Amino acid sequence: MVLHIRSLGSGSSGNALLLDTGNAAIVIDCGVGVRALANGLAASGRSLRELDAVFLTHEHGDHVRSLPNAVRAGVRLAATAGTARAAGVPSHLWEEVRVGRECRVGGLTITPLRVSHDAAEPCGYHVRSDDAAITVVTDIGCGDEALDEFLAASDLIVLEANHDEAMLRQGPYPAHLKRRVLSDVGHLSNADCGRLLLRALNGTGRSRTIWLAHLSQTNNRPPLARDTVARALAAAGTPHEVVPLARHGHEPLWRCGDRPSVAVQMPLLLS
Ligand SMILES: [Zn+2]
Ligand SMILES: [Zn+2]
Repeated sequence: MVLHIRSLGSGSSGNALLLDTGNAAIVIDCGVGVRALANGLAASGRSLRELDAVFLTHEHGDHVRSLPNAVRAGVRLAATAGTARAAGVPSHLWEEVRVGRECRVGGLTITPLRVSHDAAEPCGYHVRSDDAAITVVTDIGCGDEALDEFLAASDLIVLEANHDEAMLRQGPYPAHLKRRVLSDVGHLSNADCGRLLLRALNGTGRSRTIWLAHLSQTNNRPPLARDTVARALAAAGTPHEVVPLARHGHEPLWRCGDRPSVAVQMPLLLS
């Protein structure tokens, strides 16, 4: 089984991630516009109707923008009870997920992870196939040690590096928004992302691919995020591939199963 993972957009303008085994295909979040979603799926030879499920992390608009289209397409919608209620997921399409309780779709085993964020009942996801494990955590104000073991077990980590703290503090956001982003239920800074990864991966002696997600357009720069996280991880002594995700487009693509796993880095498409 070859597992393909493709980012379909990352950041406040929309988040979606395709995981495709060939037999089964799921999307984590459907926050990009419907055209971007369709184009990204088409790049993997998929359509919205063919998805086995959309797994939601939480109800914020940048994670559910294309939810009405998924509903019209009749796609199963996996979400915690709080997210389903807050996002208005119709009950006939809803599959409840609970933190720590595994579920299976095709050959994938999916474990929802607790995250700290100012939404009704947010979660991240740890996904295992026969050959690979992936952790996807965006929109997280602070990490906890429960997350470490899932990060350490992953070949691909998709983790938020939302802002540079100095840029945010000195930037144009109003004070209440700065407080929210910096809080424990807001978003992870580049430095915090690096610290969290270092704590989880230190001593594991294995190189991973790390996709930095949900970069702020106002309070971050992709090279700054990449360098800050890579510098923090250098202390672990094992080289990791650190790739900031583009806000738009349907790259990069990561695949595993036809060993060795490879990551294809594409030019950043920032706007
Ligand atoms: Zn978000
Ligand atoms: Zn959010």
